[in-house]
Formats: sequence, structure tokens, C-alpha cells
Amino acid sequence: MSTEHMKTLKIDHVGIAVKSAEKSAKLFSDVLGLETEEEILNDRKLKIIMIKVGKSRLELLEDLDVNGTIAKFIEKRGEGLHHIAFEVDDINETLKKMKENGYRVLSEPSAGADNTMVAFIHPKDTHGVLIELVERSSQKR
Ligand code: ZN
Repeated sequence: MSTEHMKTLKIDHVGIAVKSAEKSAKLFSDVLGLETEEEILNDRKLKIIMIKVGKSRLELLEDLDVNGTIAKFIEKRGEGLHHIAFEVDDINETLKKMKENGYRVLSEPSAGADNTMVAFIHPKDTHGVLIELVERSSQKR
């Protein structure tokens, strides 16, 4: 056993900001034949449709609040790539390490889609792409 117990496991999902999750999902479900799952995140006022692609997923993000962060993102930059999410086995350890290395953490871990804990790292520190860290609760303890 290594003393370094923090692990980055895989690309969990890629987040795409869209105006309508339902309309956007049609490409992936109807054309590409992928499985989709809808979820409403009340805390964040987001409608999410997860598209399963093998072991990874795409996350279509639709804002239910016209002044929300996704709505503002689309207003500024149009629909498109919003973030890349890495699954980690210990989100607190990973955040600690990122902070120690000077990366700005946008939010402390909070509940995300699909029974996860998530946190975001400032895109100005990560080459322009917002990074999300995801820890699955089933993974641990
Ligand atoms: Zn995400």
C-alpha cells in the first residue's frame, strides 16, 4: 500500500451547456442510440440529461434560472463545452492537493447529480477549461 492514497480514476463526464437539454439529447439518443437519464438539480436550478457512452458520460446542462451560471455562460459564449469532470476517490484530499499547488477552488464539495459530491476548480488556473472533481459515494467507506 502506498501512503499516497488519493487517486484520479477516469474522465467521469464532459459537461455541455445547452439551451434545451431535451432537444440536444435527441442527437445522442435518437441518432447515436445512446441511453439517457434526466435529473433535476433543485439546489442548482439545473436540468441535466446524462448520456451514457460506455464507462463515460456526457452531461447536458440546461439552466432553469435565466440568471444562472449556465444561462450566463451561453449568453456569453454560446452553447458548447462547459467542463470536464474527473472521478477521484477522495475529493477532499484532491482539493487539498490542488490548493497546496495554487489552484483556486471555486466551491467546496457539494451534492451533484447521481448521488455524488462535486467541486469545481477555477478555469483561469486550468488552461481555460473548467474542471469538476467527482467523488461517488458508493466508492468510499
Ligand atoms: Zn458535471
